[in-house]
Amino acid sequence: MELSDSVRWGNTKIPYRYRYAKRKTLGISVHPDLTVTVKAPEGTSPEAIRDKVRQRGSWIRKAWREFELYLPKQPARRYVSGETHRYLGRQYRLKVVGGKENSVKCLRGHFWITTTNSSPKAVQELLENWYREHARAIFKERLTECYQLAAREKVPEPMLRVQKMTSRWGSCSDKGRILLNLELIKAPKDCIDYVITHELCHLKEKHHGPRFWKLLEKLMPDYREMRKKLNLFADL
Ligand SMILES: [Zn+2]
Repeated sequence: MELSDSVRWGNTKIPYRYRYAKRKTLGISVHPDLTVTVKAPEGTSPEAIRDKVRQRGSWIRKAWREFELYLPKQPARRYVSGETHRYLGRQYRLKVVGGKENSVKCLRGHFWITTTNSSPKAVQELLENWYREHARAIFKERLTECYQLAAREKVPEPMLRVQKMTSRWGSCSDKGRILLNLELIKAPKDCIDYVITHELCHLKEKHHGPRFWKLLEKLMPDYREMRKKLNLFADL
C-alpha cells in the first residue's frame, strides 16, 4: 500500500509517497517527473519518515533541479563599483559614476553606469532596466530560433513574457504563454535556449513523462549537457 505525505523544507513543500518494505534502511528516490518516493523499513513511524525526508531536503531540491528549472537563491547584490554582474554568461565589473544624465553601457568588461543618483537602489533600477530591455530582445530572438524546430513537432506558438522570479528560470501557462525569468539574461545563450526549449516542450507535454524527455531530446539532442551547464552556472 502506498501512502502520501509532505514536509516543508525552507520555503519548499516536498510532497512524497511512501510504502513499507522488508529492508533495514530508508530509501528516498526522486524521479524525472519530479515525484519523490520513499521505501521505509516496516514499523517506521510517519513522523520518523517525515524527519528523514526533511533531512534530505537539500539533496531533493538538488535532484529536482537536475530535471526542472529551479534557480538557487541568488547572493545579495550591493550595486556599488567593483562588484561583478553577469550578462550572457560573462562577468562585468560595475563602475558607478555621478553625472547629469542616466546611462548604462556595457563595454570592455565593465558596466559603466552614469547616474544622477548613485544610491544602490537607483543603480539597481538602472541596471535592471538595461537587463530588461536586452532580455526582451534576446529572448525573443532565441524563441524565434528555437520555435522553428518545435513548430515541426506541432508545438503551439507561444506568447512570451519576461518577469522577475525568485525560484525558477522559466515556466509556462495553460494559456500557451512562456514566462522567462529576467535573471536568465545573465546565463550563456545556449542555456537560455535550453530553458526556452524545455518550456516549448511543456506546451505539448505538460508533465515530465517519457514523452516529454523524448520530445526535448529531439529538439535539443545535447539537452543534458545544457542542463548541466545551466546548473553549474547557477551555482556560481
Ligand atoms: Zn519542466
